[in-house]
Amino acid sequence: MNKLSLKDILKINFRGLKLIHNRNKASIPLEIADALLITLSSYWNFWFLARLIDHVSISAPSSVLITDTVLIVGGDFLLRTLKCIIDHLIYYDGSSLWEDTNLYLNRKLVSMDYEYMESEKIQNQKRNIDEMVNTRDGGGMNFLFWRIIGVVSYTLNIVISVVYMIQIISTGRSFFSDNTFKSILLSTLFIAIIIFLVLISMKRVKHLKEMIFHENELLIPYNREMRWYTNNCLEKEAFGKSIRLFHQQPLLENHLKALLTAGSKILICREKLEEKTQRITDLLQAGLVSLVYLYLGIMAIKGLLSPGDVILYAGSITIFASYFSEWIYVLTELMTNTAYVKAYFDFLDIPNKKYEGVLPVEKRDDDQFELEFRNVSFKYPGCKEYVLKDFSIRFRIGERLAVVGKNGSGKTTFIKLLCRLYDPTEGEILLNGINIKKYDYKEYLNLFSVIFQDFKLISLPLGENVSASIEYDKEKAIKSLIKAGMDDTLKEFDKGLNTILFTEFDTQGIDVSGGEAQKIAIARALYHDTPFIILDEPTSALDPLAEYEIYSKFDQLVGTKTAVYISHRLSSCQFCNDIIVIDQGKLIQRGSHEELVKDQNNLYYQLWSAQAQYYQ
Ligand code: ADP
Repeated sequence: MNKLSLKDILKINFRGLKLIHNRNKASIPLEIADALLITLSSYWNFWFLARLIDHVSISAPSSVLITDTVLIVGGDFLLRTLKCIIDHLIYYDGSSLWEDTNLYLNRKLVSMDYEYMESEKIQNQKRNIDEMVNTRDGGGMNFLFWRIIGVVSYTLNIVISVVYMIQIISTGRSFFSDNTFKSILLSTLFIAIIIFLVLISMKRVKHLKEMIFHENELLIPYNREMRWYTNNCLEKEAFGKSIRLFHQQPLLENHLKALLTAGSKILICREKLEEKTQRITDLLQAGLVSLVYLYLGIMAIKGLLSPGDVILYAGSITIFASYFSEWIYVLTELMTNTAYVKAYFDFLDIPNKKYEGVLPVEKRDDDQFELEFRNVSFKYPGCKEYVLKDFSIRFRIGERLAVVGKNGSGKTTFIKLLCRLYDPTEGEILLNGINIKKYDYKEYLNLFSVIFQDFKLISLPLGENVSASIEYDKEKAIKSLIKAGMDDTLKEFDKGLNTILFTEFDTQGIDVSGGEAQKIAIARALYHDTPFIILDEPTSALDPLAEYEIYSKFDQLVGTKTAVYISHRLSSCQFCNDIIVIDQGKLIQRGSHEELVKDQNNLYYQLWSAQAQYYQ
């Protein structure tokens, strides 16, 4: 944990409060009102009880005593009722803050440059924030929200009680025959003791909280692994089979036990320090409180205080005693929580590196968009090796381009660059002669429908999956599904487009097969009706013949659009009259199948011969 200066602590928490305030302008006023009510409730009864007792001791008229009693009972009831109402409002605001802060994080995650998505460092940064919120004694924005009330109300209570206690000390000036100097000295000494006590306690609690922050960081990998085992491994059918068949129960149990032991070792250390810190703060506080009680007792015996004063002062000492350690904790927690709030904002502040162009993409009914890779070289961020090297290619409009090559040769990377998920390290990609960076990114992306190898469908209604939207053209969605070969399956779905995919979150959902999922993904591409359609081996789990069937059928659906087919299986792309072969990031051959297969010294022929056994 990097040490934060007081200025940073204030700045970060102020930003946190601003975020809380901006999402609901009533939040902070409500919290302050709640804090004031807590303070007022603490003192209300003491004030009026002291008044009542003094009035009784001087035999005041019964109307005065009745007024005092009504003030005590009525005031107390009113304050408690008001507090109930405010607490109710705050409770829901706290929950919605949790939703909102999560929403901002997730919004950031899906809008940040794609290269961050693939960065383990950034992914961990996000996971750590989630873990910190959930870990015991963790923190974050919600913690800041809930602690505002504590900080304000405890501070007010402590300040008022200290003022009263100083008053007790000053009242005792007759001990010194009205020697003002000695009285001031005594009050100063008292304040000095309190400040000393506060500083010692805060230092100890701060040490504890810093240790907790550090330990929470250490706990993250254990918690994450535990969660993975419980959420993914133990509950998933696929694991369930191998666990049973290979008798993996003892293996898993051992591993989980080891994780739990390692995690609790860290927690036990913390608990010991927590215990010790709490006891020290309690002891220091007990010493001070006893001294003040003693002083109060002596003054009461000497008749220097009225019975009401004794009640009031004893009350303020009680308040001091009950809030002091809480106050120290909450103040220190707020300071140490700053590190969690900072982690939250650090994530939100990650700047996007990608140049955002503004040029609109020309709307063309004839889909005559020309794309060109000009001497493009690329290496992934943080990697030394080039994945694509001096890659140049111009797409022929309305034609089919097949991209083939061994696994890992750079085919998917070529598509990622085309869609600007990454920008080239060297060279440029042009659309109608203009660098694609200059175009408005959203408009540029609207040119492509890509079905990646690892395409994903979401556990949402089928129609929303196809259209990628809440509002959509139902007829077009059904047409796309039928074109993609889902007509028979669609008839079996009682709820049609409203059928929820997968059963993870809805027992009425439908678990679609791998083949059906591919068809839905294809329907999604067709629904979007873009000038370029790209299939990046979404069929790699199928056998070569089944893949060929899907590819060639898809080709009929594409019509006059420009299509790019990627596969490491040459058979799938035979129908394309334009095939490029990529090897180790370089474009090494281009031509039709017949042309390429003639060159027996080259990779295409070698791959073709090696794979021929599958489709002869
Ligand atoms: P293909 O699609 O031909 O199988 P890829 O384009 O997926 O190949 O990968 C080309 C090379 O780039 C491989 O060596 C792969 O390990 C590497 N690579 C892919 N994605 C990343 C990434 N996000 N970070 C670093 N290296 C990557």
